[in-house]
Amino acid sequence: MYDVAALGELLIDFTPEGKMESGNPRFVQNAGGAPANVLAALSALGRKTAFIGKVGDDSFGHFLRNSLEAAGIHSSGLVFTAETPTTLAFVHLDSGGDRSFSFYRNPGADATLMKAEVADELLENSRIFHFGSLSLTHEAAAEATLYAAGRAKQAGKLISFDPNLRERLWDSLTHAGDMIRKALGFADVVKLSEEELLFLTDKPDMEAALEDLCSTFSISLAFVTLGAKGCYYRCGELTGLVPGYQVQAVDTTGAGDAFLGGVLHQLLLLGLGSGVAGLQQHQLDQIAAFANAVGALATVRKGAMASMPSLEEVEQLIQGKINVKMK
Ligand code: ATP
Repeated sequence: MYDVAALGELLIDFTPEGKMESGNPRFVQNAGGAPANVLAALSALGRKTAFIGKVGDDSFGHFLRNSLEAAGIHSSGLVFTAETPTTLAFVHLDSGGDRSFSFYRNPGADATLMKAEVADELLENSRIFHFGSLSLTHEAAAEATLYAAGRAKQAGKLISFDPNLRERLWDSLTHAGDMIRKALGFADVVKLSEEELLFLTDKPDMEAALEDLCSTFSISLAFVTLGAKGCYYRCGELTGLVPGYQVQAVDTTGAGDAFLGGVLHQLLLLGLGSGVAGLQQHQLDQIAAFANAVGALATVRKGAMASMPSLEEVEQLIQGKINVKMK
């Protein structure tokens, strides 16, 4: 039995790493893709995870399968195609570690995953199913994603969703909004940014917007991540603002994914792999604080999938014992 199965994009993040002698920027090849990053965070915390997705049958695709395995993520659900290359993304970091992306995906292999290629047994044999919105941009993978979400839901799994809006990957924002709303219809647990919340609700007041989102889509537990400031959560009528940890961020790529991995780890610990109703305020505060610590530690090293913190590092940060200035 797996703790969490995730479906979606698995791609190469080229992360900037100083300059070459010529003065040109140097980019380093890292494994990335939000759903796989969430699994990497969970694996680093000791959870059993399985990935479902598609890459090109090229050197990048094989590097990605090796990266999944190195991160302890089960990879039998990864499909290879000779027809479409692996998706590439270049990460651009500003001085505070905040990033933007350029995607090379027209479409990439990840967006061509078909319903028939979804490993049903991984959905059946996992407690939680997680997905995002990049696999909803193109028709084939969108059908596969919504099929998997529906099947997992029917089997009584807890469904986790991260809208993870990347505007440039959509043909229109209307299409993005429609597909994200469809996905929200399956979700029990959601993590989103303030910008995504505004996009989905058109309400500038964060608290009102989250209340609106949760009631419209019957979401049991929702988190708005606030970067270094921490997060805001809502579960039924309970809400809370939980401050983040002070760290020296060098690369925020994957911080949101690490955060969500922290949330799912805590839900599994509480035995809530198939429902989150009835959580109490102190449990929600604990989940949020733990997730903030996982997110914070994911920013102190470059790259995403290979730089997720261990349970020991997270516990040390929470107890105030860790030197968080490490690079
Ligand atoms: P993504 O766009 O990758 O999905 P996101 O926008 O959800 O990510 P952030 O809000 O940047 O992600 O970060 C997620 C969590 O990680 C935050 O809620 C916080 O707990 C932690 N975190 C992020 N950046 C920092 C930072 N600079 N210092 C401390 N904690 C951070």
